[in-house]
This record gives sequence, structure tokens and C-alpha cells, in this order.
Amino acid sequence: MGILVLLCLFGILTGCADQAKLAKEQLAEESNPDRQQIQIFAMDTIMDLKVYDKDGEKAKDALLTCEKEINRLDGVLSATRESSEVSKINQNAGKEPVVVGEDTKELLNFAKEMYRETEGAFDITIAPVVSEWGFTKEEKKVPAKEEIQKLLQKVDIEKLSLDGENAFLTEEGMSIDLGGIAKGYTSDLVTKILKEKGIAHGIVSLGGNISAIGTREDGGKWKVAVQNPLDENDYVGVLEVSDLSVVTSGGYQRYFEQDGVRYHHIIDPKNGYPANNGLLSVSIICPQGQKADVLSTALFVMGKEKALDYWRKRGGFEAVLVTEAKEVLVTSGLKESFTYHEREGFSFTVVQ
Ligand code: AMP
Ligand code: MG
Repeated sequence: MGILVLLCLFGILTGCADQAKLAKEQLAEESNPDRQQIQIFAMDTIMDLKVYDKDGEKAKDALLTCEKEINRLDGVLSATRESSEVSKINQNAGKEPVVVGEDTKELLNFAKEMYRETEGAFDITIAPVVSEWGFTKEEKKVPAKEEIQKLLQKVDIEKLSLDGENAFLTEEGMSIDLGGIAKGYTSDLVTKILKEKGIAHGIVSLGGNISAIGTREDGGKWKVAVQNPLDENDYVGVLEVSDLSVVTSGGYQRYFEQDGVRYHHIIDPKNGYPANNGLLSVSIICPQGQKADVLSTALFVMGKEKALDYWRKRGGFEAVLVTEAKEVLVTSGLKESFTYHEREGFSFTVVQ
């Protein structure tokens, strides 16, 4: 879980004055009688939804609708459930097109668009390689070089054909993995439901993909901590947000070690190995959860220079990068909303 809502970080908030203030705020949130909360296990992760409303029944109903929608989407997008649309697309690779619903269609179209925009850094057809590393299984291992080369030939989203309601992986052995995008897509639907149900204040965390609904009930912004990738009990700074998604990708989130080397789950589609371009984590802040989810993965693959160039060229989002050189780099749009938490050995820069 890359970013934690500070409200979940009470345990580590001891010591200096700003931490004490944050802890006090958290206590106030927890004892707020307007709060309704649910936790759901879906998409292989824990999802935590909190909403605040004077009308408890309305809030409960909104959360229940979200829960149903999340479970429905899990059934459609899961790569591990045999009956899901995604599994059917994978099972029929090289055989025949599969009829898919609106969600899958929209998501796959967006994934294709982002593949082009990120010049291949984000590619959902990386699945055969991710699977060979064992990230979707119990047993993880470093694959043989030849095996990676062979599987890379099956990685190319341009060979995913989308035609009306049909989705078709045109070569046998191809498959798709929505691990880098599905939670973001889901968070946008959840946000939409909550807004439609008249919920003005809430904070949704889908396995670390955070979406802030409106403000806090007292009008203050939501505070979201950006984790220190080198210490899970620490954070490098705090973002103040409203009506925004905050999504983090980092090598520290899922990894294994073999012969003293650490291998993580974000694969560079150019070579089939865990991306190793000098970044420890990338957090993306923008209104659309789906876009934030894709970009956090893609910019992590790109590395610092390319990621910042991408931000300068495209815009429409802000980012916090933590590099292996212990730099905390924050794009200029976050100047007012990010508070750096000074750490020994770390440096802090606002990037133009
Ligand atoms: P995230 O945690 O959002 O950065 O997504 C990482 C997950 O996305 C991994 O666990 C894989 O399932 C999948 N993935 C890994 N590398 C890539 C990539 N280059 N493009 C798209 N998806 C990827
Ligand atoms: Mg992602």
C-alpha cells in the first residue's frame, strides 16, 4: 500500500508538533458520529470506504451500492476467476473474439490509448511475463533469460483487437493483466456512485488507491501521507487534497528476494525485467483515478527524467517522485498542497 491516509497512521504519529496535530485530527474523524465505513476484500486487496453524512441511512445505502458495484466489477475484471470477461479473453487468445461489456470495453480502450501516450511503458499485455516471474502465483522466481525473451514476443497491446463489443488477443499465448489499472477504474465508479447518492464527504482507499470525495465535513482538505519507500512506518510528506485521486506505485509494494537481490512487480515491457530506472516510488495526483493508476505505473517504468518530461509535455496531473538517491521531487502544482516531512539523508525539490 503506497499511500496511506493519515487517518490510518495514528500508530506512527508521535513526537513532534505537526504529528501530534495530525493525530488529534484523526481522533476527531474516528469519533465523528456522521461516519459510516465498510471494508471489502476484492481485487486481491483490502478496500476501505468511509463516508460522512448527517443522514446515516443515506450513507449506508450509498456504501452498500458501492460494495455491490465493486463485487460486480471484480467478477468481470478478475484474471483469476475463470468466468470473468478478462479470463475469457485470455482463454480465447489466438482462437476467437469474446463479447465484452461496457466496463471491459472502456477499460481496454483506455489501456490502449495510454500505451501509446506512454510510449509503451504501460502495457497490459505484459501478463505472460508477470506470470513467469510468479507475481500472480504463490511461488516467485527469476525466470531464465531465454524464457523472458520468448515471452516478450507475446507482449504487444497492438495485437489486442477491439471491435465494437468484441475483444480479441490475436496470438495464442498472449494474455492481459489489469493489475495496474483496474483499481483506478473501480475508484472512479465508486466516486461517481457516492456523488450521485448525494455524499459530499468521503475517503476511499482501494488497496492504496486513494480517492478523496469532496472535503472533510468541517470543510478542511483530506490529508494523505506519501509513504517513505524505505520504511513502511514512515512517510516523506503529506498531501492536502479534495476531489482528487492519489495513487502510488512503488517497487516496495510487492517483491521477493533471490540470492540477495530484490525483484519487484512492475515490469519494464522493453526488457521483461522489474523496472530499474532509479525510482523508489511514484505518486500521481489528478481527478481521474483510472488515469492516476495508469500513470503511477507508467512513470515508475520511465524513470525520473522521462517521467518529468512526460509531466512537462502532457500535464493534467501532478506527481511526487522518490528516487533511489533519496530525492523527494514534487511537481510545481503541488507547491501549496504538499508538506515535506524532513528526513535525514533525504532532499526535497519542487520541479518546474
Ligand atoms: P501498480 O501497482 O498500479 O503499479 O500496478 C502493478 C501491477 O500492474 C503489477 O502487479 C502487474 O499486475 C501489472 N503490471 C506490471 N508491469 C506493468 C506494466 N509495465 N504495464 C502495465 N501493467 C503492469
Ligand atoms: Mg497502477
